[in-house]
Amino acid sequence: MQVIEKIKKNRLCLGCGLCSSVVGQEKCEMRLVKTGFYEPEVKKPFTFSEEKAVKQLCPAVHVEARSHVGVWGNMLSACEAWSADAFIRHKAASGGVTTSLAIFALEHHLVDAVLQVGVRPDSYLYNELQVSRSREDILRNAQSRYAPALVFHQIKTILDSSSDLYAFIGKPCDIAAMQNLVRMCPQYEGRIKYFLSIFCAGMPSYNATLKAWQQSGHKDTPVALKYRGDGWPGKFTAQFDDGSTYQMTYNESWGKILGRDVAFRCKICPDGIGLLADIAIGDSWNTKDGYPDFTESDGKCFCMVRTKAGASLMDAAAKEEYIKSRPLNLQEVKNQQPYQYKRRKLAGWRLLPVQVMTGWLLHFEGLNLLSLALTANLRKGFRDMCGTYKRFRKELHGK
Ligand SMILES: Cc1cc2nc3c(=O)[nH]c(=O)nc-3n(C[C@H](O)[C@H](O)[C@H](O)COP(=O)(O)OP(=O)(O)OC[C@H]3O[C@@H](n4cnc5c(N)ncnc54)[C@H](O)[C@@H]3O)c2cc1C
Ligand code: SF4
Ligand code: SF4
Repeated sequence: MQVIEKIKKNRLCLGCGLCSSVVGQEKCEMRLVKTGFYEPEVKKPFTFSEEKAVKQLCPAVHVEARSHVGVWGNMLSACEAWSADAFIRHKAASGGVTTSLAIFALEHHLVDAVLQVGVRPDSYLYNELQVSRSREDILRNAQSRYAPALVFHQIKTILDSSSDLYAFIGKPCDIAAMQNLVRMCPQYEGRIKYFLSIFCAGMPSYNATLKAWQQSGHKDTPVALKYRGDGWPGKFTAQFDDGSTYQMTYNESWGKILGRDVAFRCKICPDGIGLLADIAIGDSWNTKDGYPDFTESDGKCFCMVRTKAGASLMDAAAKEEYIKSRPLNLQEVKNQQPYQYKRRKLAGWRLLPVQVMTGWLLHFEGLNLLSLALTANLRKGFRDMCGTYKRFRKELHGK
């Protein structure tokens, strides 16, 4: 069976589009399927070397990191930070650090452009990679899109069309994909100067977005839609042609709808915390009773600075007053992100049944999964392993 068919059949595809870009759209085209996710459709058989390339490039099955330690992975420093620009801080998903770092890198000519996900200009819904070349472009693409995105379907065309240097912003699996591409194609070495990762708990389907705004009772589709931002966490807001809007709190949208329809691969994700990035950025939630408190307030991010390139970008942006920061106690992150903590501890247990049932299809390296699994509560680990086995069997056979 072709490797792509195997990845799809086992519900592992993330719909990123990298395979399509590398083998060419005439052989492999991205499609939106009825589950509300993108998938590649193979139109002509791949050669042996294309098969091999896809296996090495696909971020669903291949994540390769430097040897990480601990739950949160290697880092040079960690801080709590926010944009020094009150407009950006308010507009962005959390504290606007990602947007501010990108603007800083562009305005100080450290990069020629920023590669990041944003909504397609002709749509309120569909997301794909944008090449941001100005402050305005980067601001337009700020905030989180809790939905699929065609991140890489045009990446070779973009990289081949100039010798520009880029900052790349993405989910942890997007960072893994870009690094797989750079590793495989030496001509792209050095072209991505900064890898900025957002934290990620899962990619909901487009169907979940439709379900959320359709609760408004509107028959017409929205003219614009945002998932959060314009406040922290900010509201899910669908805007309609007649001038009306429909809103939901973050807890209602993510907690009750979006977070319940994420891709299967996200449920066994070994890295939602940007282990491969120069800087990983997440929500520095205020906590109440040991759990995140989603009451509206001024946004804050936590930043895990993992490499020297990341440290020099953070330091320079702070010095030029693009961001403000204060020290962060990593113990706080465990309370702010209990889901990510638990997922990292138990990922090894969750992955085991999938590895066995797919004939060891997944190649994850340097993520510290074995040691975390062995130090996790063994009863919980065993329970999660059995739960994943049942869920995976249901994904494959519907029972
Ligand atoms: C699907 C999803 C799940 C998330 N889960 C968590 C979580 O569990 N814990 C947590 O702390 N944070 C999570 N986040 C990240 C969080 O929402 C913020 O993006 C992060 O804290 C950075 O905040 P910021 O204010 O610096 O971002 P901003 O300055 O608003 O910048 C956000 C950046 O993210 C990029 N982006 C938006 N949507 C996507 C997407 N779908 N794919 C790739 N890139 C995208 C944008 O291009 C932009 O550059 C998630 C985000 C997404 C999209
Ligand atoms: S490269 Fe991306 S689109 Fe292709 S099979 Fe892998 S996850 Fe799916
Ligand atoms: S949970 Fe993991 S696999 Fe899923 S979108 Fe986020 S980083 Fe990618």
